[in-house]
Formats: sequence, C-alpha cells, structure tokens
Amino acid sequence: MLSSEMVKKAALAAGADVCGIGDLARFEGAPKEMDPRYIFPEATRVIGLVFRIPRGVQRGIEEGTQFYQYPSMAYGGINEIFAPSVLYHVGKLIEDHGYEAALYRNTGARGVVSDMDGTPGNTLSPEEQIEVNERSKTKTAHHRTVQFTRPVRPDGVAPDLQFHFRLAGVACGLGEIGWSKMFLTPQFGPLQRLAFIFTDAPLEPDPMYDGPALCRRCMACVRECPGQCLSATESIKVRVGGKDCEWGKLDEWKCYAFYTHAGRKFNPFVPKEVFDANENGDLNVLEGKGPATEAEIVKVYKALAKYFPSWVGYNMAKCGGCIRACVSMLEKKGGCMEQRFRRPLRQGKPWSLER
Ligand code: SF4
Ligand code: SF4
Repeated sequence: MLSSEMVKKAALAAGADVCGIGDLARFEGAPKEMDPRYIFPEATRVIGLVFRIPRGVQRGIEEGTQFYQYPSMAYGGINEIFAPSVLYHVGKLIEDHGYEAALYRNTGARGVVSDMDGTPGNTLSPEEQIEVNERSKTKTAHHRTVQFTRPVRPDGVAPDLQFHFRLAGVACGLGEIGWSKMFLTPQFGPLQRLAFIFTDAPLEPDPMYDGPALCRRCMACVRECPGQCLSATESIKVRVGGKDCEWGKLDEWKCYAFYTHAGRKFNPFVPKEVFDANENGDLNVLEGKGPATEAEIVKVYKALAKYFPSWVGYNMAKCGGCIRACVSMLEKKGGCMEQRFRRPLRQGKPWSLER
C-alpha cells in the first residue's frame, strides 16, 4: 500500500529538498480558472516538492560580477531540469501502485489567466506578444483582442489551467507567503522553487504550517526593490485551508520589467547613454515614470533589443533584489535563515550604479 512516507522518501532520494502533502479540499474557494481540481477531478491530494536555490548562485549578482548563474542554474535549471526529473521519478512510484500522478512543473504554459498577475485574458509574455503581433502583420497593438484558448465543454475551464504555486505550497503545509509575495519555508527562507503532483492516491495529508511566523515584516524587500514594485502598506489577503495569508501588493508588470532589465542603477549590461537618451520615452518604466502596462514593457523590450542578441540576453539581469534583501535580513535579525551559513550573504552595503 502506497503511503505518504514512501512518497516523501522517494522524492527526497530523487533530489527534492522537502516534500509536503496537502488535501485538495484546501483549494475550496479558489477562482474556477485557477482551481487545480479541474486538472484531475478524481484527485484528492497534492504533493508539493521544494527545490532549494543554492545561495551561491546569487553570489555573482550580490558582488555585481556574474549574473548568469542565478537565471540559468536556479530559475531555469530547477524549472526545466531538476524538478521535472524528480516529478517523473515520484510519478512512476505512484503509478506503479495503481494510482495516477498528474505532474505539474513550473510552467510556461499560457491559459485564460495571466501567470503574472492572475488577470483574465492577459496571458502572453511581452516577448511572445511582440512575436505574435509581428507575425500577424496587423496593426493590433495588443494581444487581448486575440482569443487563444476556450473551454472544451460548456461548464469547463479553458486550458491551460494555471494555479497559484505559492498558495499550493501553503496548502501542502510547506511554509508561508512573505510580505514580498515570495514563498518562505522554515528550511530555506525565500530560496526555493516549487513543483507539484496531483494524485488520487489516498495519502495522509500534512497539517498546515503553524510554526513561528516566517516573515518578519521587516520590509527589507520593499526598500531594496529597484523598481519600488512592492507596496509597504497595501496588501492582498487570501484564506487557504483555514490559514490566512497576506502579502504586499506587487506591481507584477513593473517587477517583470525590472527583474529582466533591472533599471538604470542595477543593469551593467546596458550603456548609461541608452538610459540618458530614453528615446521616445521607451524606457519610462525602467526610469520609474509612467504606468507599467504590458504595452510599456513591450516598448522596453523593443528599445533594448539592439543591445542583446536574443531574449536570453535580456534575462541576464534577473533581479532577485527582494530575495537577497530577505535572506540578508533573516540571517542578520534571526528567522528561518539564521545560522544556516557560517558567513552571511552580505557583509557590506549592496552595490548600485550611479548611486
Ligand atoms: S524581483 Fe526585483 S523588481 Fe521584482 S519585486 Fe523583487 S526586487 Fe522588485
Ligand atoms: S524581507 Fe522581511 S518583510 Fe520582506 S518577505 Fe522577507 S522577512 Fe518578510
């Protein structure tokens, strides 16, 4: 008989750092378009896998000397390689016992709600939007006029369904959402990524996390965000499995612009003169002027395209300012990161161009 213990043991042996199991009933009340129970209606359990981000992949960014390891090793590497291989392994164990394992890696799938901010009909990244608009050779300024997906039955939800990963982590008892909207665990603070399995195997669920508060409400994440994307006062509140979750209101599109391009003071890859010229106001978002709409972000991408050979080049400047601020604060002031490392992540002031 397949047990929770067997699943967790297999997950850790395959390379996950932590494994928690949640009851899918904890998603009661989720918006229909983001309710994972529609993916596999007979499933009753969700298995959450935590993959730690090695602190050292951000060392080069912390020093301002090497940017590529965090986006490639931690962000892409976990999403594309490490987590899928563990999902595959654990899924086989579950299916060897006669149950089904619906695997769900961190996805780039596109559906009816944005994977950025959950808004309906807002599903393409700026890169994709540029491609679609260019391919269609129309004057369509915005992809929202194009219908990309629709339900396959009258009472269904349109594919590809995307649920809220961090709330799913909460539902698996793995941790809490910090003010930064990052998922925090007792083991790794904000340094992890998540992946999930939905199953009809009757596994014993873990309780919701009810240990000491993982977020100190220190607001270091707010202070160190280069785009001032996080509110210090406005918040979002959600209840999952009887547990109240609250995080600071985040301007996701502005964060998108900054975490891919980092702005004038934090992107050594774009010549200063480009920011000085700011032709046609194309870089207004990165200069903190004007609203951070998708259309504005597309302007940023297009304006900077000539300085990078590919989209990959754009993503060299992955921000992570809120992550490093949080790790640094938790290490110094105590909390879930305390005493994990012999030396703190940060020993002086964080760098900034043209401070
Ligand atoms: S990733 Fe960067 S831009 Fe986005 S909220 Fe964190 S610090 Fe701000
Ligand atoms: S930096 Fe402070 S307020 Fe922000 S998520 Fe971390 S602990 Fe919470």
